[in-house]
Amino acid sequence: MFTDYDFELENICKTILKKKYGTVGLQFPEGLKRYAGRIAEHIERNCDVQVIISAEPCYGACDLDSGMGIDLLVHFGHSSIPSIKIDKPVLFIEVRSNLDVLKVVDKASRSLKGKLGLVTTVQHIDHLSIISTFLKKKGIGTVIGKGDDRIAYDGQVLGCNFSSATSILNEVDAYLFIGSGNFHPLGVALTTQKEVIAADPYSNEVRDIKKIKEKILRQRFGAIVRAENAKNFGILVGTKIGQRRWALARELNKLIKDHGKKALFLTMGNFDPSYLQSFDVDAWVSTACPRIAIDNYMRYEIPILTPVELKIVLNEMKWEEYKFDEILEPCEI
Ligand code: SF4
Repeated sequence: MFTDYDFELENICKTILKKKYGTVGLQFPEGLKRYAGRIAEHIERNCDVQVIISAEPCYGACDLDSGMGIDLLVHFGHSSIPSIKIDKPVLFIEVRSNLDVLKVVDKASRSLKGKLGLVTTVQHIDHLSIISTFLKKKGIGTVIGKGDDRIAYDGQVLGCNFSSATSILNEVDAYLFIGSGNFHPLGVALTTQKEVIAADPYSNEVRDIKKIKEKILRQRFGAIVRAENAKNFGILVGTKIGQRRWALARELNKLIKDHGKKALFLTMGNFDPSYLQSFDVDAWVSTACPRIAIDNYMRYEIPILTPVELKIVLNEMKWEEYKFDEILEPCEI
């Protein structure tokens, strides 16, 4: 039915029939929503159940649609986040990729030197050991790190957690990221401060992340400078199950007030700058998904900072100590 990805339709139907679920919800990230209709049809036809599709935006396993009134949620495109305790039935379908990754890794190998840390997203996680063997034959040593309890697989990175990369920081000279997009390899580069090469099996492109890292750092420096005279801060707290960092939000609130400035707490599920336009605030601090401040920075009229950047604004940290925002602590239910 689908060639590039494994949607595990047989596994889904087996689970539904075994547990005799009546109503099944499907949740997809943006890139997979185009498959939703065909998957829903297949499940309805084979399992005789009512299928409902969540139209809400979805970017990670931190975000499980809880308002659908269903017996089972089938969440596509992400692995579970082990540290998140879920009290309703959820089936995670990771949608592993069937694409050949060795072609682009072979291309990347021409510019690789030293011992490499291998990192990827869940789609290509099965390929890491194959890549490791392939590179070994070319005389390139590799290491696959173990993440913390937000990470399901060795070598896996999330946009909010690079612990599998930092766990091998002292063992490697550089990192090879396999996957699409720049955010994950950028996060590895900013967290480890080592060279990162991205090998994209979809476009067959190999990219050195150095220039992107420099561009983003210039942008973040600009955001910090723009927020320096802010008196009123809005602390944004995500309401999605894996993005709630209330302890951090409370710590930032205290810090802002200790510096003689004002702070408000605001909660949001899906972040949309238009919801924030009417508040009397000079700068935002996002404690939710780290991608919000970095990826969507240009969409906000006033600076939007990460928690580390706020500390730099308040002179609690130096720019030279800049760190990428990661979710390393358990989220509050
Ligand atoms: S918090 Fe952001 S980066 Fe982390 S899993 Fe959720 S959507 Fe992905």
